[in-house]
Amino acid sequence: MKTVLVTGCSSGIGRATALEFRRREWTVYATARDPYDLTDLADAGCETDTLDVTSQSDVDRVVDRIVESEGRIDCLVNNAGYGQFGPIEDVPISRVHAQFDVNVYGPHRLTRAVLPHMRERGEGTIVNVSSTAGRLASPMMGVYAGSKHALEAMSDALRAEVDSFGVDVVLVEPGPVKTPFGDRAMEMLDDLPRSDGYEDLYHIQRDTNVMGGGGGTFGVRPDAVAETIVDAANVADPAARYPVGDIAKLGVLGRYLPDRIRDRLFDLVRWVMS
Ligand code: NAP
Repeated sequence: MKTVLVTGCSSGIGRATALEFRRREWTVYATARDPYDLTDLADAGCETDTLDVTSQSDVDRVVDRIVESEGRIDCLVNNAGYGQFGPIEDVPISRVHAQFDVNVYGPHRLTRAVLPHMRERGEGTIVNVSSTAGRLASPMMGVYAGSKHALEAMSDALRAEVDSFGVDVVLVEPGPVKTPFGDRAMEMLDDLPRSDGYEDLYHIQRDTNVMGGGGGTFGVRPDAVAETIVDAANVADPAARYPVGDIAKLGVLGRYLPDRIRDRLFDLVRWVMS
């Protein structure tokens, strides 16, 4: 049986991904910061463990455990992440650091831990859960988008570095998804120290509930993202990128607009919605 390690399984996409791998009869190591959040995944047949992606000792302990017990790690899913929204000026450097520690350094820690084993076996897949924000940076999402752009850049470099070892690197890029992600991001937005000048942007982000309420009106279900992740892990030659949902497919197109036109469009949205 193939073995997968999934991070951030307490809710949302991570939990759905662990269950989908299990349904397809993989050995699943579902991890989270708080093991009590994993009780039902254990009942569903997953192995569970405590893993905070900002802790190098957690990363080393869990990877060593899997290699010792299973002798292989066929797939790593770097899913754990959160959204630090807000105008760039209002986000303190400590929050930027924390965002990158989870969304960028976390996948880097895990990638470095699993790669020696994957290279030795000459196979493996690393799936990095990015976002439409990894292709397109919009106002109020600069820090989060910065972290996902970094994840995309590092994944592109890594894909070329490890291809000759038989290791695949895949980016999964969801648009809005119906998970607690949006509400958690709104909570973090609420306790930012606000400077003058961005009230209209806070209003658009908060009061129009663009991301909140579990992915907003256009959010896809976490199962759709999970199926894409598990499909990518099960094919011999996966694509580099899998946008998930209509918003994601549209958002990626926005990246190819000339900068001036994209900026004017953001201005227009800001003016119409405020
Ligand atoms: P979610 O339900 O809030 O799940 C996020 C998971 O990440 C939780 O299990 C959370 O654990 C975990 N996490 C946060 N910090 C962690 C840390 N330091 N160590 C380990 N785990 C940590 O949201 P989701 O939508 O499923 O998000 C999963 C991924 O999808 C994220 O990378 C996110 O950026 C990406 N994404 C989400 C959306 C969306 O609209 N939902 C869209 C595009 C991309 P705790 O419960 O312990 O906090």
